[in-house]
Amino acid sequence: MTRFADLRLDPKVLQAVEEAGYDTPTPIQAGAIPPALEGRDVLGIAQTGTGKTASFVLPMITMLGKGRARARMPRSLVLAPTRELAAQVAENFDTYAKNTKLTKALLIGGVSFKEQDALIDRGVDVLIATPGRLLDHFERGKLLLTGVQIMVVDEADRMLDMGFIPDIERIFSLTPFTRQTMFYSATMAPEIERITSTFLSNPARIEVARQATASETIEQSVVMFRASRKDRQPTEKRKVLRRLIDDEGDALTNAIIFCNRKSEVDILAKSLKKYGYDAAPIHGDLDQSQRTRTLDGFRAGTLRFLIASDVAARGLDIPAVSHVFNYDVPSHAEDYVHRIGRTGRAGRAGKAIMICTPSDERNLEDIEKLVDKEIPRIFGIAPEPQPAPAVPAAEESAEPPRRRRRGKRAAEETPEPETVAPVETPPAPAAPEEEALRPEPRERRKGGRGRRGERDEPVVGMGDHLPSFIAQSFDERRTG
Ligand code: AMP
Repeated sequence: MTRFADLRLDPKVLQAVEEAGYDTPTPIQAGAIPPALEGRDVLGIAQTGTGKTASFVLPMITMLGKGRARARMPRSLVLAPTRELAAQVAENFDTYAKNTKLTKALLIGGVSFKEQDALIDRGVDVLIATPGRLLDHFERGKLLLTGVQIMVVDEADRMLDMGFIPDIERIFSLTPFTRQTMFYSATMAPEIERITSTFLSNPARIEVARQATASETIEQSVVMFRASRKDRQPTEKRKVLRRLIDDEGDALTNAIIFCNRKSEVDILAKSLKKYGYDAAPIHGDLDQSQRTRTLDGFRAGTLRFLIASDVAARGLDIPAVSHVFNYDVPSHAEDYVHRIGRTGRAGRAGKAIMICTPSDERNLEDIEKLVDKEIPRIFGIAPEPQPAPAVPAAEESAEPPRRRRRGKRAAEETPEPETVAPVETPPAPAAPEEEALRPEPRERRKGGRGRRGERDEPVVGMGDHLPSFIAQSFDERRTG
């Protein structure tokens, strides 16, 4: 098996990769990085989720290590079809180039030309852009592409769908003939074949298997959860999770519970342990011996719940599990497929249950688009004010219901049953930058699946008693 250390990457890049928590290169990385570092053109047939971004960003940073940027003449260019994808590439660049002095500029719509011009004027090593915006800058005379040594075209098939191929051809013709080209597409439509045979020179062709779609043997569901009060979201969300776990009974032999952030992984693992669940965390910040111990226990069946971040789980050989819980809705839709793919293996049944808060709903829509189906809902809020129902004995003994008190003082007086939890809810999973860059969020919302009305109901029934969604069995409200 190839290791990152075998790939002749710059030690600063290797360090950043290690800090990102990656153990081994993905197949597209192992295949594309060596020829790229030799200066060869690369044709990567791979889709999102395969690690393809790092397969071009890592060699790029290594190769750009020598030399300096000149004003208005970027040394490399990455073209992505959408603002969001371009922003993702920029985030990746920031992660992997953090130990270097390389500079980047992101040219996308929605950001003022002035700001972007100022960056380009200073000189950047890496220019990441959508094709239209790049040509706008070029036409305004602010940018020269004659210094481009490396050009990457990402998601070419989406470029084709969006009608960008003429722009791409034009951009190719504005860059030097001697440039190195790395070209990525999930499929090789005839038009894409034509472009690659025109603009790539004897490329190393790396094809990785299509990402498996969610297995049919996985039963999926999502809890639409809305906290009774914003500051109670963390505690109530953990309570929902415990309830979901308990509802599964003996059918749950072992489970991976995914969180979006390392900090959440820690908090949740501590909380579950406190409530008597056999749980341990795994994420990139834990030392290797601890990670190995935890994984060994999980593999051997002595640990029942593994609380994980995506990075920690990816690339690790974790055995199939009976359940996957998405404690957080992943902010990248393809991560959902990876996460739930940990269950339902080899034809065996598996269950994947996700908790969705109101701020996660857009990400949920993206996931449903990707898996091309509606994930059955488990509604977590009561539509009507309801009298406080009897609290099941087990629930009561685990965490007594609290009375609603107002203000900070009241909160201080009320003993928090979970001392590990911060009072404030962490920010929504998607990076703010990314959020701001999504095209037409309002439009996409309007085109929803007719569930918005239900989900946008104001919160009611949250009087002095226990919120009814906690006390009522989810089974009663399962749909689909
Ligand atoms: P991409 O296909 O580039 O969108 O990457 C998909 C995800 O894989 C991203 O969240 C990356 O952070 C992650 N990733 C990339 N390379 C590796 C690796 N070698 N090991 C584990 N995760 C990776």
